[in-house]
Amino acid sequence: MDLGIRGKRGLVCAASKGLGRGCAEALAAAGVDLVINSRTEAEITRTAHEIAERHGVTVTPVAADITTEAGRARVLEAVGHADILVTNAGGPPPGDWRDWSRDDFVRALDANMLSAVALMQALVPGMMDRGWGRVVNITSQSVRSPIAVLGLSNSARAGLTGFVAGMSRQVAGSGVCVNNLLPGIHATDRANSLDRGVAEQDGIDLDEARRRRQATIPTGTYGTAEDFGATCAFLCSQQARFIVGQNILLDGGAVNVTI
Ligand code: NAP
Repeated sequence: MDLGIRGKRGLVCAASKGLGRGCAEALAAAGVDLVINSRTEAEITRTAHEIAERHGVTVTPVAADITTEAGRARVLEAVGHADILVTNAGGPPPGDWRDWSRDDFVRALDANMLSAVALMQALVPGMMDRGWGRVVNITSQSVRSPIAVLGLSNSARAGLTGFVAGMSRQVAGSGVCVNNLLPGIHATDRANSLDRGVAEQDGIDLDEARRRRQATIPTGTYGTAEDFGATCAFLCSQQARFIVGQNILLDGGAVNVTI
């Protein structure tokens, strides 16, 4: 399917690997010129080079921490204007609700709520002026069904979800569609580190931890960054112009709800 976005300009955050990279790859395959970001210079530079080579688009890497004001300023300077924004950052560590300090919550809010809000505040007004834009925020299935050990994530992402629910309706009339994409378990480094956490906690080996987590998913498998990226690119397409303020769960059926 032609997504109708060839020649558009996009920013994908936290994209040297994992879900962010999946989104960058799929947008590049649709002909979108990109700025991509993550903290480690060598990795983001290599990823940008590989995506540009594979898809024949321009990909500009920016090594910066997207959760800091200074990092975002560097990224936004490289972007100038964007038609497409994919917000993303690393997820908070697992833990116990009794232990989380105010600083832990502030860090989680900065990473998984306020950085996305700041990027939308910087880029969506330009999209509205030009009469076209797409924003996809990578959140988590924990927005629909809490994961107790990831309480910092549950809290911060719920805040972002509430913000998007309101503002997405305010900007839709200017041709800008803002939606959230909620990953269930996908085979990335983040999933590997959560597998390791289960292995340690339950005193089992990594394969058994993975088997147990896979058994919680009706498909019996983890998702892939490619699956995730394809859905992200569709949400950024011309065809998605009527999808506004939605929370789209990509979880292989793991969250057991009717709607
Ligand atoms: P991943 O494979 O570990 O990749 C994370 C990417 O983000 C890397 O490119 C990393 O590069 C970059 N990054 C991390 N912190 C950053 C920061 N502060 N500023 C800029 N870049 C940063 O993780 P993932 O699985 O793709 O997860 C992406 C998001 O989805 C996370 O918030 C995660 O919690 C959420 N999620 C994932 C799953 C899953 O199963 N994979 C499920 C639910 C939710 P550098 O380290 O070099 O910066």
